[in-house]
Amino acid sequence: MEEEIKNKHREWLKQHEGLRFLKGVTKETINRKWELDYRDDKYDSSINMIEVSKREIPIEYDEESKTTKGKSCNKEEREKWIQETISNLEKENIGYDLHDHKGKCPHLTIYLDRDATKEEKEAIVSYYVPKESWEFVDTSLYGVHLIAVPYAVHWKYGTIKELVKNGGVLIINVHDEKFKKIINNNKEEYNVNLNLGGITAKIVSRIKITDLAIEHGARKGKGTKLYHCCFHNDEKPSLSLNDKKGFYKCFGCEKAGNIIDFVMESEHISKEEAINKLKERADIIEYKKENKSLGDDISKLRDVVLLNLAAHHTRDATELLCDYLKKHENIYTTKDDIDKTVDVVLSMGTELEKRMKGFKIGRCRIHQDGTSLILQK
Ligand SMILES: [Zn+2]
Repeated sequence: MEEEIKNKHREWLKQHEGLRFLKGVTKETINRKWELDYRDDKYDSSINMIEVSKREIPIEYDEESKTTKGKSCNKEEREKWIQETISNLEKENIGYDLHDHKGKCPHLTIYLDRDATKEEKEAIVSYYVPKESWEFVDTSLYGVHLIAVPYAVHWKYGTIKELVKNGGVLIINVHDEKFKKIINNNKEEYNVNLNLGGITAKIVSRIKITDLAIEHGARKGKGTKLYHCCFHNDEKPSLSLNDKKGFYKCFGCEKAGNIIDFVMESEHISKEEAINKLKERADIIEYKKENKSLGDDISKLRDVVLLNLAAHHTRDATELLCDYLKKHENIYTTKDDIDKTVDVVLSMGTELEKRMKGFKIGRCRIHQDGTSLILQK
């Protein structure tokens, strides 16, 4: 990187000291967990994603509408909306930065007089952006979220995000009455979103939000029902999880929502992608319930076992394999006491092992309560 750009990058990070960041993120590594608090003496020019500060709001547009399925907008529209937003800000002399990374749309950033919640950020943005554009605003950025760092290589486009314009001087007063009104209106809408129905109900009945949270790094707190949050650096447990309702709320970072919001937030993906991911997972669980032994259908067995392993459901994966084994293999033992556990070293090259490419089946343990099997990668 050129020295001048490097200095600007360093300067920008200095202004955001204390926030967590990621180094050298690409499209492939976007889901990596974030690292330490940034400090100037830890400067690293490869830092290219950073947590959004609670005192600033990035304004970016998505291509897909978040309310109307299948509705999209084009680059010209997005650029027009950014220009209109800028002129709305300029009318009130509100300070802003406009960065461009030569991707789908330039990014606007506005600044606040205090830490704001996701709700407050949404209210402020909806006040300044053109009304018809609100459904395309990327509001996932307003909680605990990572965003591309200016003057670093953009994680998605591989270009350098640079400041192209700044203007205005005022910092937004979060307490302003005009934003409060919007927050109160949105609250009603928000509650409706949490009412379960259709696909969400189906997902919630089959998938535990607790399992998802643990997979994303949440840990159960000692002597409390709360978890250490997977969205912020949570020293005292502050994440509440409700499997029955498929709902989460963090009292630390104030992130809250249903199971779909959870996946969007933790994997940085769109609503549609999150629903598809959850549907797939729910169907696998359903499939397993209906076809406990999976019968003779070994081609499906491999996929289901691998998906279970990927989701850290090791017990389910081994149970499925054991069922298959017991049905299709003859196991002989020299022990006559069947109450005791019998270890079976499986012969290599069975049909099952051939299908389980990449996994070696190790020792199989058979006892009266159930059979266990050791899988090795
Ligand atoms: Zn949290």
